[in-house]
Amino acid sequence: MNQPKHIARKRFGQNFLVDGAIIDNIVRAIAPQAGQPMVEIGPGLMALTKPLLERLGQLTVIELDRDLATRLRGRQGLNVVESDVLKVDFTALAHALGAPKLRVVGNLPYNISSPILFHLLDHVDAVQDQHFMLQKEVIDRMVAAPATSDYGRLSVMLQWRYAMENVLFVPPESFNPPPKVNSAVVRMLPRSAPAVLNRAVLEELVQVAFSQRRKILRNTLGRWLDEKSFSGAFDLQRRAEEVSGAEYQALAAALS
Ligand code: SAM
Repeated sequence: MNQPKHIARKRFGQNFLVDGAIIDNIVRAIAPQAGQPMVEIGPGLMALTKPLLERLGQLTVIELDRDLATRLRGRQGLNVVESDVLKVDFTALAHALGAPKLRVVGNLPYNISSPILFHLLDHVDAVQDQHFMLQKEVIDRMVAAPATSDYGRLSVMLQWRYAMENVLFVPPESFNPPPKVNSAVVRMLPRSAPAVLNRAVLEELVQVAFSQRRKILRNTLGRWLDEKSFSGAFDLQRRAEEVSGAEYQALAAALS
C-alpha cells in the first residue's frame, strides 16, 4: 500500500536522511550484527531503520510522532515504542528486552539533543555503545579538550563517562529538508566511572565553574566552595576552561 507523503515537522526536529552513500557509511560505522539488542531513537521514515533491521533481524524504535509511529507498526522484527525518548527508562527497556546492555543509535532531533544525551547518561550502565547524528558543533563541544573555546559543561560531563570520537562528517544536502547547520556522527563508548562521586555534585560544580567562563575561578567557584566548607587545595587562579575533567571529578569526589 502506498503511504501518503509525510510533511516534515519542525517541532519534532525532522530532517530526514536521503543520501544513500551517507546512510551506508553510518550503518558501516555502527556495524550491526544479527541478534544484537539495538534501539533506534527517532526512526522517522526509516532511512537507517531499514538497513539496520535487515542486518539485525529485530530492532526497537522510539518515535514520538504518532503518524510516523503508525507507519512503522506491523513490520516484521520491528518493536515500535510510541513515546517521547526523554520518558523512556532505558534500564527497564534493557531488562524488558532480556539484554544486559543495549546498543543505542539515532539521527537525533537537534532541538533536544543535549537533554537526550543527559537522559542517556542516567542510564549509562544499561548501554553498550551509542552512535548519534548531531549538529557538528555539538560534537565539537562533546569531544573538546581543555583550554579550547569548545570546552565546557558538555565536554566535562560526557567525557566523565564516555570515550567519544567523531566518525563521520555529514553536510546539510544529505537531508530533506536540509538543516541550516553541518552534522556529524559521534561514537560514544561508556567507561566505568574513575572516581566514586555524586553526579549531581559534579553537575553543579561544572555549572558554577562555567557560569562565567572568562573569570578566574576564585570569583565563581571560590564562593561556592566556601559555602560547601571545602577545606582542600584547589588552584582557583585559573579559568574554568583550564581545568581538566579529571580535576573536576577529583574535586566532586572530595565533595560527594
Ligand atoms: N531517522 C530518520 C532519518 O535519519 O531520516 C529521522 C531523523 S529526524 C532528525 C528525528 C526523528 O526523531 C524524527 O522522526 C522525529 O519525529 C523523532 N523525534 C523527535 N522528537 C522526539 C522525541 N522526543 N522522542 C522520540 N522521537 C522524537
